[in-house]
Amino acid sequence: MFSGTYQCNLSCPHCCVPIEWPDRLPIAAALRFVDQAHALGIRKVGFTGGEPFLYLEFLLAIIKRTAQLGWRFDKIQTNGVWYESPAHLNAALEAVRSAGFSGKLGLSVDKFHGLDMDALALFCRTARRIFNRDEIVSLNYASKRPDQGLEPMHRLAHALGAVVQWSDWLKRYLVVSDDMTMTCQWNHLAPVERAESLGTGWEWDGAWFQEDYCEGPGQALVVTPKGEVKPCCGFASDLDQLTIGNLHTDSAEQIVQQAREHPYVGRVFREGLTAIKEDILARDPSAIPGATSNQCFLCWYVLTRGLAQGMPGGGGQVGRWTDWLPNVNGERIPLGFKART
Ligand code: SF4
Ligand code: SF4
Repeated sequence: MFSGTYQCNLSCPHCCVPIEWPDRLPIAAALRFVDQAHALGIRKVGFTGGEPFLYLEFLLAIIKRTAQLGWRFDKIQTNGVWYESPAHLNAALEAVRSAGFSGKLGLSVDKFHGLDMDALALFCRTARRIFNRDEIVSLNYASKRPDQGLEPMHRLAHALGAVVQWSDWLKRYLVVSDDMTMTCQWNHLAPVERAESLGTGWEWDGAWFQEDYCEGPGQALVVTPKGEVKPCCGFASDLDQLTIGNLHTDSAEQIVQQAREHPYVGRVFREGLTAIKEDILARDPSAIPGATSNQCFLCWYVLTRGLAQGMPGGGGQVGRWTDWLPNVNGERIPLGFKART
């Protein structure tokens, strides 16, 4: 999964990537990494950001190469309101289709994003027409619970002449019109990075998550605009502690090996985050203030506080969080320290 750029036309209050970074991932370096990943057996690619459509030439180059290699496509995650005119939107989507993209356009629709419903509806209609597929768009929303934060979906449905329906079969909401079916993917909102100011208390919701070895947001090679490679797109992954390599200096094979050997990442994927949590609580029952159903929130908490064996603390608010907390060795560590693993 590539983030060619973190730049974005929006600045959502819950965004957990450093949209301030001006970096753009060089196309040649990304293509080299694609070829190395292909040799490792990887056959699927997706795009996130920032706003991927702000670096269209990158998107098109990677789509063309991976389509030639016969890869499948995951989503292009977009805010859907980056375009300057209907002609600009038309041309960009047509270029993506012509390059060979056969995945979905993942549209973020919640109270934090742009909420220009006319612009979002035009994006959906244009995508439907250009790709000639009912299910070309899927929707994402971030809230505290799956049944919360659906008001913007209802407004988009109204703008499209569609309805919002619960599917017992898919266990999720759908936005359905005569010619479109859009599934709604829920993302568990957590107060990390910019969203730290959105409140406290509710992240510790009293129930422990079900261990899934990061099968959901994890188990992907996620490349940032600086070329850093992460083991997942969970919202802790921008912490330096979850860097497993850099495509400018390491091959894909080396990066996978480094992930296996990484004192935290290797363990999360082999034994699960629960094993790390239980170690921490056995050592100090007060180290974690409550139970959370949000796996990535615990990951972020543990890493920023330096609670995991063999890992430094630090980070938070995109590396600018300043405070002092002890790590597991009792050393006081400055949060915001950019640690290398
Ligand atoms: S649209 Fe996405 S990348 Fe852009 S600011 Fe909002 S959450 Fe961040
Ligand atoms: S729990 Fe941590 S390692 Fe797992 S997906 Fe979330 S951020 Fe990534």
